[in-house]
Amino acid sequence: MTESQTLLPPDEFIISRLGDCTHPSPMRGMAFTPDNDGVLYHTLKTEIQPYQEQGLDLPAFEMAGPRETIFFDPDILSCGIVTCGGLCPGLNDVIRAIVLSLYHHYGVRKVFGFRYGFEGLNPSYYHTPLDLTPTLVGGIHQKGGSVLGSSRGPQDPKIMVDTLVHLGIGLLFVIGGDGTLRGAEAIAREIERRDLRIGVISIPKTIDNDICNVDISFGYETAVAESRRSTSTAHVEAIGARNGIGLVKLMGRESGFIAAAATLANNEVNFCLIPEVPFSLDVFLKALEKRLRLRGHAVIVVGEGAGQSLFDDNLGADASGNRKLGDIGHLLKDRIKSYFQAQAMDISLKYIDPSYMIRSTAASASDSAFCLQLGQYAVHAGMSGRTNMLVGHWNNQFTHVPIPMAVQSRKKVDPQGKLWASVLASTGQPINML
Ligand code: ATP
Ligand code: MG
Repeated sequence: MTESQTLLPPDEFIISRLGDCTHPSPMRGMAFTPDNDGVLYHTLKTEIQPYQEQGLDLPAFEMAGPRETIFFDPDILSCGIVTCGGLCPGLNDVIRAIVLSLYHHYGVRKVFGFRYGFEGLNPSYYHTPLDLTPTLVGGIHQKGGSVLGSSRGPQDPKIMVDTLVHLGIGLLFVIGGDGTLRGAEAIAREIERRDLRIGVISIPKTIDNDICNVDISFGYETAVAESRRSTSTAHVEAIGARNGIGLVKLMGRESGFIAAAATLANNEVNFCLIPEVPFSLDVFLKALEKRLRLRGHAVIVVGEGAGQSLFDDNLGADASGNRKLGDIGHLLKDRIKSYFQAQAMDISLKYIDPSYMIRSTAASASDSAFCLQLGQYAVHAGMSGRTNMLVGHWNNQFTHVPIPMAVQSRKKVDPQGKLWASVLASTGQPINML
């Protein structure tokens, strides 16, 4: 910890609750998680020392898991599930896990599946909710996408809470990214304003792995694994031609975790460009030329949010207000071609953009196992009356994270950190391309 780093107050980690737990849990055959344990936020001795010196409690997340007593009476509880934002491998796994856990662990019999994101909670769209039964969700984890569909664009929290009240829903599970988490928080605030007993539990969905205070999110591992087909293809194409260049654009709007990890997963990548590390096109092109003259081929991986300063236009925003990005893949392709044309140097460039193929794939084995647990822990949290929180993962444990803690900033690759140092060490690209 640096001297300027402020110590975290323990109350930032407190999870809101709907009330006391008065019902015995019907779950059998597994140990219950006590309320008084926690997952330490810090792991390094130097981070912990300042707290000890000042006699302060160490900051810790609440530990996820089934509680011995629960808030809701499962016999009369109805639940809802909604998925929002872009597609991500594992969405169906999480939906299935929530339904099966509600049904088999707690005996809940009514689960509404809201269609097309928050639109499904606004009756003016006429999206009739699905009746999510164990039979309906039985095989959905084999498929990519979301059986519920998704959408962007805000909905009025008052209307959404009216829908929950109208359908008699006690527990809403919200699966989505930073925008969705903000939407979930707005719903939870409206519920609190009306003094209702409806829980809102989120599972963070970000293929980019960019939600803060969560060390890994579902879909990311699948995305990195799938990216190998593209980086390998790019390499085969590059070595198959004189001055061959394979250029691969991967996901990563604000954070370059996928591009960085894909570079390490396939150590044939020679240049990795990510949003967190600015570069000058001139310096990059000269380094690329040097590499071609030396080795005769090159593989480049670029995260979609990299090099945005190279676009001068304000490109507007999507329905959710997310900034539209300039297409760095096409820009690099064009500029590389014109640079070598000007040098009268023949190159062969192959451009690969696998983004939609990766997003829509089914989850990998390890992501499926992860999604299953996330869904189950979300159900345990909801049944125990927690609200305005998400199920996170930290230091090898599943955690409860207050939504405000997860949306306060975005997790990014640290240009001074170990991940980026490994990328530099394994590509051999210039440390500074400015
Ligand atoms: P992705 O990772 O795909 O961007 P996301 O959840 O961030 O996922 P968005 O389209 O940004 O996707 O947002 C999803 C939903 O959340 C949209 O319906 C959006 O309007 C809503 N939303 C975003 N920000 C807020 C907010 N501050 N308050 C209420 N709702 C919001
Ligand atoms: Mg988003």
